[in-house]
Amino acid sequence: MLARWTVLGTLGCLSISLAWNWLAFRDMDATALRQGLLSATVLPIILAGPLFFYLTLKLRELAGANHKLAELASTDDLTKCLNRRALIANVERILEQRDRTAQGALLVIDADHFKQVNDRYGHHQGDLALIRIASIVRSCVRQGDLVGRMGGEEFAVLLEGVGADQAVHIAERIRRAAEATPLRIDGSEHRLTISVGCAAFSGPARFRDLFSLADQRLYDAKRQGRNRVEADGDRGSGTLAGETKKAG
Ligand code: GH3
Ligand code: MG
Ligand code: MG
Repeated sequence: MLARWTVLGTLGCLSISLAWNWLAFRDMDATALRQGLLSATVLPIILAGPLFFYLTLKLRELAGANHKLAELASTDDLTKCLNRRALIANVERILEQRDRTAQGALLVIDADHFKQVNDRYGHHQGDLALIRIASIVRSCVRQGDLVGRMGGEEFAVLLEGVGADQAVHIAERIRRAAEATPLRIDGSEHRLTISVGCAAFSGPARFRDLFSLADQRLYDAKRQGRNRVEADGDRGSGTLAGETKKAG
């Protein structure tokens, strides 16, 4: 890109310069015209080449900085997942743009008794536990699935193109992976589990409704003893199919 814009910019300046000089000197004698056209060729090459090279370099740096800034603005500092704002914006965009019949599911994941981790081992270990949970979640879903930290010890995942049963299966996989990976702190082990609420959809869906449903199911999972997955059935045409699937 750098070379292309440098060459194109220089050629552009050269053309303008030649055209201008030809117009200005065309009535003069051949020697003056030749001298005019010569300076109109040499000057742009000397000046425009380095100038365009420098400008393109700066533009490229600026684009890189902008990209980094956008990434920073959408990333959760601690876990490197999407932050709440970015997750919501991305999910809303996907829900709007997708094929209306495409199915998917939103998972809301919350660490169980997380306060105990902070109370027993300190905030730093709590932070490390959150990083670990995020990494477990990411390792259990596809690379393109959106994973975000909604705040505190709560995460959300958008699973695109999966049916209700498959979504429960994936949620179960995440739950089991968390259960099977205890925290190792100062030589001792702490079993940290998660609860998951799942809202599947196949008709039109809005983030707000899906989140609210998944959150209600998460609340059910907590109420029923934690370390479990609770799910809503498929939401055809915006209405609940009614069935609640349980796992764990
Ligand atoms: P429950 O099973 O009902 O979800 O219990 P809980 O203890 O996980 O839930 P509660 O809402 O009582 O506590 C959440 C704790 O998460 C309290 C807060 O100190 C901790 N927390 C929230 N954000 C962070 C963070 O960024 N770092 C650390 N270390 N702790 C956090
Ligand atoms: Mg919790
Ligand atoms: Mg919570």
